Amino acid sequence: MMNAKFSLAAFGLALTMSVSAHGAEMSQACLDAGGPNRTVVIPTEVQSYGTMQYANTVDLEAKEVVLTFDDGPDPNATLSILDTLDRYCAKATFFFTGHRAERYPHLVREAALRGHTIASHSYSHPNNLRRLSWNRATRQITRGISEIQQALDGAPETADVTVAPFFRFPGLNHSSALRGWLGARGISTFSCDVGTDDWRRISANAVVYRALRNIRSKRGGIVIFHDTKMRTAAALPFVLRQMQKEGYQIAHMVPERDMPAEPEAIGNPDDPIVETPPLEQPVDHSLRSAL
Ligand SMILES: [Zn+2]
Repeated sequence: MMNAKFSLAAFGLALTMSVSAHGAEMSQACLDAGGPNRTVVIPTEVQSYGTMQYANTVDLEAKEVVLTFDDGPDPNATLSILDTLDRYCAKATFFFTGHRAERYPHLVREAALRGHTIASHSYSHPNNLRRLSWNRATRQITRGISEIQQALDGAPETADVTVAPFFRFPGLNHSSALRGWLGARGISTFSCDVGTDDWRRISANAVVYRALRNIRSKRGGIVIFHDTKMRTAAALPFVLRQMQKEGYQIAHMVPERDMPAEPEAIGNPDDPIVETPPLEQPVDHSLRSAL
């Protein structure tokens, strides 16, 4: 049975409190979360991640969780989710769709500006890319990426952000041929380890319950949510708070490509410190050339 504290009335109260006491809640929740997330670097070598469908998943520690959100951006749910993530110092990966990125480019940029990883999930989310012709299926992928990239390119603040080489199949309906096609373009496929059922017509209470139950049963992993659902936006603060209480940590997936370059040689510690010019922003030619 669900605990009474997860009642919908409590959601309303919590949302009101979070608005009135935003600053205080932010610092305490961040402290409780142990500060910024650990970064889990996703290697450049192409792989398929997520034990729901594949043999391997992301290199996580026990009781570590990767938060992922699919199908957005959405003018209501995405913003609420971004605010919740900020309050908990949590960084996530957004698998956006191209047609929504076209419609709400400012939300794609907002997610990038707040430090989340921007990934792709097709152009218009056909339920099963395998049922489309080869050309239409690959076009769904490339157009999805290019629309999200255009959204990022649309403002100077995010013009240097490149869509991560991470793809999630709509409905998780993959094919080995399309995974091979993605792999040839340097793009890894992401399934998940932990479902939350938030795409079903269930209550926010049920999303909280199922997300926590499934996270506990796998002791962490890649969790799949949908940032087009208000039930998800309502459930997320309760999921994150309870995860904190139970000692779970959040890990943030970042492509190896976006990691700062290691200094090549360590100088004599007595040498004077010399300011070096900033490195040129790396550009993923393989991904852009796939468009
Ligand atoms: Zn989806």
